[in-house]
Order: sequence, then C-alpha cells, then structure tokens
Amino acid sequence: MPEVKLATRLYCPTITQVLTGHGRFPAYFNRFGLAANALCQCGEIGDVWHYLSSCPTTEFMRRQIRTNDISDFKALISDPRNVYWIQQISRHVNDLTPTIPQ
Ligand SMILES: [Zn+2]
Repeated sequence: MPEVKLATRLYCPTITQVLTGHGRFPAYFNRFGLAANALCQCGEIGDVWHYLSSCPTTEFMRRQIRTNDISDFKALISDPRNVYWIQQISRHVNDLTPTIPQ
C-alpha cells in the first residue's frame, strides 16, 4: 500500500490481493506452510512483484498496463484499464495456484 489513511477505499478482492501481496501467490502460501515451495511455474519466486514485473506467463497482460513505474501502485490503479489487466494477472495466477486441501 502506498499510503495509509483512515478513509477506506473499496477495491475488488483481486486488486486488494495484488496491492497487499496477501493472496493466492505461491510465495504467500509458502510463507505460511501452505505450499511446498514459493516458486512460480517459471522457476522464479512467485510473489506479486514477480507477476507484475517479469513472469513470462503474465507477459501479454503486463504489456497492456500503461505506466512508467510498475512499483507506483497509486498511479497504477488510477487508470481503469490498468485495473482490468491487474485483475487478469491476478486471475491467471489464481488459476495456476493449487487449492489448499481442507
Ligand atoms: Zn513466473
């Protein structure tokens, strides 16, 4: 999160997962012992930054994002077109990440 304020903003769950890094990402699951490793299927650490910046499996979606600085989340999500593509990346990662056994 770029800044903390008392006023809340409502984002869809997928955007919140990306902004916080608390979502269905291999690195996040591994951190809590819910996945055997933290790796993306490409072999790199599967955290939010990886999927937004370098993963070959999200390259097409990443190319649609309009920003000069992918780490500037505030600017990134100010463009609705970016929000759409971030949601697509999050859904893609969600589909790749195995469901946790109950
Ligand atoms: Zn990857």
